[in-house]
Amino acid sequence: MVKLYSRPAFDEPAWWFVISADQILTFNDTQLPFGCLGELPFPALDDYPVVQLGELRERTCYLIIADYLDDNFDAGEFKPLRNLLDAGDMEKFALAGRARQFSDFLSTHRFCGRCGTRMQAVDWELAMHCHQCQHRCYPRVSPCIIVAITKGEKLLLAQGKRHKPGMYSILAGFVEAGETLEQAVEREVHEEAGIQVKNIQYQLSQPWPFPHSLMAGFTAEWAAGDLHIDPHELVTGDWFSVDQLPAIPPPGTIARTLIEKAIGKEKQ
Ligand SMILES: [Zn+2]
Repeated sequence: MVKLYSRPAFDEPAWWFVISADQILTFNDTQLPFGCLGELPFPALDDYPVVQLGELRERTCYLIIADYLDDNFDAGEFKPLRNLLDAGDMEKFALAGRARQFSDFLSTHRFCGRCGTRMQAVDWELAMHCHQCQHRCYPRVSPCIIVAITKGEKLLLAQGKRHKPGMYSILAGFVEAGETLEQAVEREVHEEAGIQVKNIQYQLSQPWPFPHSLMAGFTAEWAAGDLHIDPHELVTGDWFSVDQLPAIPPPGTIARTLIEKAIGKEKQ
């Protein structure tokens, strides 16, 4: 059984994911700390939670939860997780996302939501436990749907309010309590674009740590209705010819994969 809160020996090389709020410690922008604890420019870790995260290239990965604006790690710089995504290293991005979600979970579950007692970390699974009332919490994962919709040789793309200027993507939204994934696709598409879709087909999923989503990816086809883009959620949106797409999310993102699947299907 893995002891989650164990630390490596001083001479064991490991990957270090040092998280402060929603940022990660990097050297030279996207390089993550790797090496033996005795050789790295880290402070003494006695006062920091250290959690085993998983493995990367046959070495153990550890999470260190740093304080907000912690200057004990000033040999490197805290940068947004998105930098790893933009650098295209999806393996490190996935682990960094896991690290950020663990860190977020531990720092927001220090007290029991039912009785207010201080909670204790469980050593063998990622959970916080209240020994007063036995309430146990696990990291929150919020399911979202994301869907690439085609209409003949055209693809529906929209510009979200949080997208980079000029960047278009496919529609996405949170699953509501009591909804199936397919119902969420139908509702979100209708709310955001005013249309109905058919042939909703599940394709793949991707954890998305902003802050704790799990994206369930679908393709679908237009069935009925004129496009009415919801101005509360989106800046603009339209049907784009599959041969003339605007700027879309980078390779490695589920949005990009779904766009390529939808387009590939249209070209067959
Ligand atoms: Zn309790």
